[in-house]
Amino acid sequence: MFAHVNFKFKPMNFRCGETKKLSKVFISHSKREKKLINEIQSALDNIGITPIIEEFIDAEKKQPIPWKEILGNVRSSKAVYLFLTDEVVETEYTKNWVIFEDGLASALGKQLFLFEREGIPLKYPIPYVTDYMIFEKERTEDILTIQKISKHLKKYFSVEETLITNFPLGHPVYDSMSNMFLYSLYYSLKTRGKRKKLKALGVKKVKCPKCNTSFYYYSPEKSPFSCPSCRSGRIEVISH
Ligand SMILES: [Zn+2]
Repeated sequence: MFAHVNFKFKPMNFRCGETKKLSKVFISHSKREKKLINEIQSALDNIGITPIIEEFIDAEKKQPIPWKEILGNVRSSKAVYLFLTDEVVETEYTKNWVIFEDGLASALGKQLFLFEREGIPLKYPIPYVTDYMIFEKERTEDILTIQKISKHLKKYFSVEETLITNFPLGHPVYDSMSNMFLYSLYYSLKTRGKRKKLKALGVKKVKCPKCNTSFYYYSPEKSPFSCPSCRSGRIEVISH
């Protein structure tokens, strides 16, 4: 059946050489969280991940239209990290951009890590979430946990999402059925590797009983918690 399979085929070549580049992560946040973002930048830089932080891009390298600039940056990133703090919900401006970035992550099949500040849950639903952690921005240990998670998961960024969202029309994957088969096989194996890694880290997948959104949850000690997607469901982590 797969007589045309080219065994020299390397699935990641479909990404136009993306793997040769550094692992990039798009950072969605409030500009007023300078200290937090600087810490995250160092934490990620130290483990070979380049954070894409809009306001740190040189003026001459910026594109004239902000949404196009962001679209390009999310597209070239392996995942999106959204730091949801009180500063984000303070202005309509920041809220709008954050949701725009969340929508792009969903449309482009990127993993979206939502890091929400600890405390009274923010009444601000984030529709698309694949990974969720509650953190305290002043706690160094929490920044180190984000670094640890990133280090363990960087080779698996967005594998499940790529598999689920399929490929956009015109993608070279449609060139042949054999390529499509190998592409799916590759991402299935990667997804399995990711799940194994998460299990070892004690991370569980949870599902909101109200909106049915499911995501990986990284703060099992904080349970029950309110669903970040609908803000009305109550999710309890069952430990075995
Ligand atoms: Zn929900």
